[in-house]
Amino acid sequence: MASVPLRPRRRPATLLTHAGRPAGRTVTVNPPVARTSTVLFDSVATLLQTLAGHAAGERPLLYGRKGTATTQALEDVLTELEGGYRTRLFGSGLAAIAATFLACTRPGDHVLVIDSCYEPVRKLCAQYLGPRGVQVAYFQPDLSDLDAKLHADTRLVWAECPGSLIFEMCDLPALVRQVRARGDALVAVDNTWGSGLLYRPLALGADLSVVAGTKYVVGHSDVMLGLAVANERAWPVLAATAELLGHSVSPDDAYLALRGLRTLAVRMRRQGESALTVARWLQQQPAIAAVFCPALPDDPGHALWQRDFSGANGLLSIEFQPRVGRAQMHAFVDALQLFGLGHSWGGYESLALPVDVGAARSLGGWAGRGPVVRLHVGLEDAQDLVADLEQALSAVA
Ligand SMILES: *Cc1c(COP(=O)(O)O)cnc(C)c1O
Repeated sequence: MASVPLRPRRRPATLLTHAGRPAGRTVTVNPPVARTSTVLFDSVATLLQTLAGHAAGERPLLYGRKGTATTQALEDVLTELEGGYRTRLFGSGLAAIAATFLACTRPGDHVLVIDSCYEPVRKLCAQYLGPRGVQVAYFQPDLSDLDAKLHADTRLVWAECPGSLIFEMCDLPALVRQVRARGDALVAVDNTWGSGLLYRPLALGADLSVVAGTKYVVGHSDVMLGLAVANERAWPVLAATAELLGHSVSPDDAYLALRGLRTLAVRMRRQGESALTVARWLQQQPAIAAVFCPALPDDPGHALWQRDFSGANGLLSIEFQPRVGRAQMHAFVDALQLFGLGHSWGGYESLALPVDVGAARSLGGWAGRGPVVRLHVGLEDAQDLVADLEQALSAVA
């Protein structure tokens, strides 16, 4: 007989609107911004009881660094969105990534990292973990070499889907099957692209979903934030490590992130639709050799994206024909008027950034290709964005 869940999973748009708010009480719609370091207790008995609750994994109000009503409300929405056990907040996406690697590895351990990872992950591995005795190797996003590279002492497998810069898909359920067959390594996924809404790595078997909240969760380019959502297996080591390292997020930043999160579904839908309009138009342009966007039907990752994702975001990258030189590509970016030139993405504004795909890969395969620009499509009118791209392309024609 099928078991009936106590509370069916709320659909994303509904939970983004309602989660993180205490039910059945008279409450403000939004949590207060609890700016505090010190919490005052009415007696030693209450203090001791609070400390015991904290040690048992509860979230009592104890000290600013250990969380407030504001950060807990944000954590609760993210936990429900990702279908996790608990969520830990960090001061940036990279801080969440670094804490996850530190939580899951010790000197002598072996770690496998997807070759399409966000570039600072590669630096963290080469310049911090490597010198401290963690052995790091890279595997292909298509998993063709994963089985051969898995060791009995592999402690962590780090994936990112789709990958950074050109958005290669990865078959996460297949990755999880291979890892589980070979040992007890934890599987962690950089889920910034899907931001919990479009992709739910824990439901596909991963142990940790790590997100740069800076991007779509915050959504307005005004806060740095990281988060890691863990299943029950990964939570104790993640929570202990984050606490030992003293990670803490300001209530003002948590409040802004929660405010951004409430509109994630509508922003993402609109930006995903506009990005597809822009991507289809770019595919017709003779100066463009390739458009990377898994939502395009002819993208090599499209079938996996359709199977595992519930929608698209505003990201795409374009590769110019090899005859277009770097200087012409720079002239194109400089000529754009609606696409700002800057780092990050996931805000309401459109951005363009020249990227070096070859330099961001360890396993090669990019030699001899044309220059690449990553575009982020914001909430502007898609036809205005196409017109902007059209006038800037005439600068390289
Ligand atoms: C931006 C980004 C990060 C890092 O987030 P920050 O908040 O900038 O530290 C991590 N992973 C991916 C895929 C990103 O795009």
